[in-house]
Amino acid sequence: MATHKLLLLPGDGIGPEVMAEVKRLLGFFAKTGMAAFATEEGLVGGACYDAHKVAITEETMAKAHEADAVIFGAVGGPKWDKVPFDARPEAGLLRLRKDLGLFANIRPAIVYPALADASSLKREAVEGLDIVILRELTGGVYFGEPKTITDLGNGQKRAIDTQVYDTYEIERIARVGFELARRRRNKVTSMEKRNVMKTGVLWHEVVEQVHAREYKDVQLEHMLADAGGMQLVRWPKQFDVIVTDNLFGDMLSDIAAMLTGSLGMLPSASLGELDARSKRRKAMYEPVHGSAPDIAGKGMANPIAMLASFGMALRYSFNMGKEADLLDAAIAAALAKGLRTADIKSPDATIVSTSEMGAAIVGEMERLAA
Ligand code: NAD
Repeated sequence: MATHKLLLLPGDGIGPEVMAEVKRLLGFFAKTGMAAFATEEGLVGGACYDAHKVAITEETMAKAHEADAVIFGAVGGPKWDKVPFDARPEAGLLRLRKDLGLFANIRPAIVYPALADASSLKREAVEGLDIVILRELTGGVYFGEPKTITDLGNGQKRAIDTQVYDTYEIERIARVGFELARRRRNKVTSMEKRNVMKTGVLWHEVVEQVHAREYKDVQLEHMLADAGGMQLVRWPKQFDVIVTDNLFGDMLSDIAAMLTGSLGMLPSASLGELDARSKRRKAMYEPVHGSAPDIAGKGMANPIAMLASFGMALRYSFNMGKEADLLDAAIAAALAKGLRTADIKSPDATIVSTSEMGAAIVGEMERLAA
């Protein structure tokens, strides 16, 4: 059996608390012999700043390049609000994304039956929801140049951000979208604003071309991004995979997040280019939530987003779909038994701590795998 190399970066705040539950899960895989993982661990964010005065060290970056997958907790907190801009905790995360070339951000929005009432939408609109927002992560308006604020000298200033996409950037994210859809319900919805933006015109054209050339078997539809936002809160189950650019993806994935009820439930994956020789992609898996300083150290954090992020690593980096399904089923089973961390509490539920939830989920895995 191949040994998969993991780099664990717990980070700050609740990061180490939820990462401890990933370690528990790794213990389960080691004990059962279902999979072999070799792990290394490193500092990132504020924790790394305290030790080394940078948000991530070159040594840890080298380990990230060597790893088959990086498993990331969360960074940041008020303690580091005043550190130099280049060494702020988020700089570690941005460096990882940039240097590993992680251009494809996958955010599933899944509503477990037991949690359908935690959504801001009605139960019938979200029960059983299972969609994916695929966001382009390394291009577009957040990175385009020029990016300036100029003093016009007449009491006015002018701010410029540049939305820019090249064909290859749209092609590669579209391919990830179509590949994802093939493993799911085979439908891609591409969202842009071609009615008012040139990048939208090119986005639409290139997605159409990739589809016609390589993925005719997948159903493709296009939607203007504003209409897409509306449809997401009207009837989200119409979607399977939504593929969109960096800016719209940022907003649409947060909208989709609210459909599921809590930040503590949301995993994510970021993937890089396919290496032609190894057939592997650089990859990082992290919960959507931050370091939650308000609850850090209290054993209250929900570990499900972190565990489900590891589940995405099983699926997308290690081709272990069966084991990922087992983990998803174990999460659903623990929730169905009425176990809840404080963020997802409901009237009849039993409130449990981070480690109790992690232990219950691993316990369900043992039961389901037996
Ligand atoms: P946050 O996601 O940390 O917390 C928002 C709210 O959700 C808080 O009330 C928190 O208690 C709750 N929450 C988050 N995750 C939870 C979990 N697993 N279980 C239970 N409750 C949970 O966002 P924030 O408060 O805006 O930011 C706090 C810090 O985290 C800031 O320094 C911010 O820059 C950083 N941050 C980091 C990341 C990251 O590392 N990827 C992402 C977002 C924010």
